[in-house]
This record gives sequence, structure tokens and C-alpha cells, in this order.
Amino acid sequence: MTKPSEPRTSSAMQMTRRAVLSATAAGAALTLAPGVVLMTAGPAEAKATDKVRWGLLVDTSKLDQAACDALVAACNAETRLTPASRPEATPQWIRRIDIKDKQSGATKSLPVMCQHCEFPPCADVCPTGASFRRADGIVLVDKHICIGCRYCMLACPYKARSFGYEEIVDQKPYSPRGKGTVQACTLCVHRVDAGGVPACVEACEKVAPGALVFGDLKDPNSAISKRVAELMITRIRADLGVEPGVLYAGL
Ligand code: SF4
Ligand code: SF4
Repeated sequence: MTKPSEPRTSSAMQMTRRAVLSATAAGAALTLAPGVVLMTAGPAEAKATDKVRWGLLVDTSKLDQAACDALVAACNAETRLTPASRPEATPQWIRRIDIKDKQSGATKSLPVMCQHCEFPPCADVCPTGASFRRADGIVLVDKHICIGCRYCMLACPYKARSFGYEEIVDQKPYSPRGKGTVQACTLCVHRVDAGGVPACVEACEKVAPGALVFGDLKDPNSAISKRVAELMITRIRADLGVEPGVLYAGL
């Protein structure tokens, strides 16, 4: 497994862009509506530290179609993702992928979500800094400075992002989505920052125990690091060099 390394210069530039835009937005808020706080991403970033590198291991040998569907359902319930008026406009944070070995005919099902790349192309192309990588490896979108250009959707090799075409009703405060902006799996950052695990990992324990393992890839004693050391690990499209934080076994 390739070791996570320092963010590239372009990521540092993203942070500068974010800082400028955040400051501008805060200034505008002060001028237009004293006391109104426009930016909400700050606290989520403040909790991150590069002492950890959050990762997710997916052991496909323990999963089938029904288990993958249960993970998708758990994600949708946690984030209140509901069907849009058109199927193609429905946001999707995790999707089930079915693959078949042409020679043996063997099939596998696996969940694919934002891979929380060490070097995220989505952040590199974002003109406003709305797409960013936290110090702990979680990649997020700040909907308040996303202008909906969708460059990040084009740049993402994993088709992990969705565009918000419709008004969002009954939104959870921790589920950052908005009409006209981009959204993707947050690795349930609200749970992680509170010391928990993502909703899909929690749901997985009921339907396929041990198939998803979440934890700190920098800690050699974490459950995820121990499993990674035991198993043959694959990163989807490792050739791209973006170093996903989502690792797969059994492929
Ligand atoms: Fe960005 Fe796509 Fe990588 Fe997620 S999977 S960090 S959206 S490039
Ligand atoms: Fe950045 Fe939003 Fe454009 Fe994506 S759609 S590149 S998050 S501004």
C-alpha cells in the first residue's frame, strides 16, 4: 500500500483560495446582516488533524448484492437522500457496482462512494476552493462557496459526486446539500468528529459483519491497519495516483 504523503502544492493553493473566499463571505455577512454567520465549514475543518488519516476498508469477499443495497439504504437514510422528480436528478452518495469475471463467470458486488483521495482532482480543479481535503483526509464540499460549475464532477475519476437539481426539504443540518451545488459522501464526518463511525459501517455490522472497517490508517494498531496488513489490498484505479482512502480487498 502506498503511504499517504503531504498534500501537493495545488491543495495548498486551494486552502489559500478558500481562506480568501471565506474571509470575503464573512465580510459580506458583517456588512449586510450583522451577527449572521454565513460560513459553516470552519468548525468541521477545525476538528481535523493530520495526526490521523481516516480510511475505509471494503472486504468484498463478505458482501453480496443485498448487503450492498443495505449500505446504500443506510447512507440514504442518514443523509436524507430522497428520489428526485427525475431518476437522473436523484443524488447518490454510494452506489452498488456489480462486476463479473469474464473467464470464470464469478460475480461480485461492491459499494463505491467518494474515495477520499489523498490528492483529490475535484479539489485541484475547483475554482472557488469549495472542494477541499481536510488534514485527516476527508474530502468535502462547502456548499456556501460552491458555484455549481461542476468542474469537480468532471474531474472525479470515480463519478462520486452528484449535482443538486432540486430544492432540498427536510435536510439534516449535518448533511451539506443545496440546490445548484455539488454533493458527495462526507464519510459521515459529523459522526467521525463525534468519535463514531460512518452510517454504512454501522449498518454493515448487521448484514455483513466485518465487511467494512473504518479507522486510522496511520495507526498501525487500529483495526483497519491490522486488516490491511493481512489482506491483498486494491485501490480502484490506483494507476491514477490519487491515492484513495477507500481500500478494497477480495477484488
Ligand atoms: Fe474527489 Fe472524486 Fe476523489 Fe472523492 S473520489 S475525493 S470526489 S476525486
Ligand atoms: Fe467547486 Fe462547486 Fe464547481 Fe465543484 S461545482 S468545482 S465544488 S465550485
